[in-house]
Amino acid sequence: MTLPTTGTVVTYPLGALTSESRVLHIEPLDDGRVAVLLDRTSCHPVDAAWPDQPADRGVLDAGDVSIDILDAVVAATDGSALYLGSDIPVRKGTDGWAFVVAHLVGEDAGLTEGDSVTVEVDASYRAALSAGHSACHLAALALNAALAGAWSKDARVDSLGAPDFDGAANETSTILERGARDTYRIGKSLRKSGFDPAALDDPDAVAALVNATLASWSGVIRIERDGELLTDRRYWVADLPGGEARIACGGTHVGSVAELGAVTVQLTTEQLEGALGVTMLTSC
Ligand SMILES: [Zn+2]
Repeated sequence: MTLPTTGTVVTYPLGALTSESRVLHIEPLDDGRVAVLLDRTSCHPVDAAWPDQPADRGVLDAGDVSIDILDAVVAATDGSALYLGSDIPVRKGTDGWAFVVAHLVGEDAGLTEGDSVTVEVDASYRAALSAGHSACHLAALALNAALAGAWSKDARVDSLGAPDFDGAANETSTILERGARDTYRIGKSLRKSGFDPAALDDPDAVAALVNATLASWSGVIRIERDGELLTDRRYWVADLPGGEARIACGGTHVGSVAELGAVTVQLTTEQLEGALGVTMLTSC
């Protein structure tokens, strides 16, 4: 079967849980699983390039069979082969390559190219991840605000005008069900940029500032996007009291700050080799 030459249309960014889709390609993998490529999908895949939000759970419904989606990953093809996850050899946007969502299933259950399937995503798991992801972005912005006084030199600012500590120091971000874990590294280059790590000498005090900011926020959250394809740029936008917050983001989100209930963080620090490590646990 031929590999697709255009990317997958994705409907999850605007909140879709189901999609009526057509099977474009089926590829058996070395590990016994089967990759199913569709023209469009409501299933959020994990992206090996920035694996913050896990893949959705769900099924492919094909008439009277329901096929469990074991995993969903960002994949890419140049028309001759399919590369999954970290095996993708090129950057997004490279000419001649299509970036697609690969739905990994245990067996193809008789699917063939051209078949119609309905993608059905697990709604409660998605809702928990969407809440966690929105809370993660809000916490990052509130952390930037809490640490604004720690900078002695001009730094790149976030969309609310605070120096972007999160953008400069974030090492890993993991979206959890109704929460997130972010790790930061304050090393030599950040200190040279004017950030004073002493601002985190009392992490509980910083967390209290972050939590006070989070408690004061409300507003509508929406996704803006340049197009419908997997690789089209998308932005998380929140109309907060202090202005419009905007962060480039490929994940899924809730529709308002109010949907999250109380968002709170805990901060811990640890001394690493030549750097201060910071972990922020966000929950809602
Ligand atoms: Zn995001």
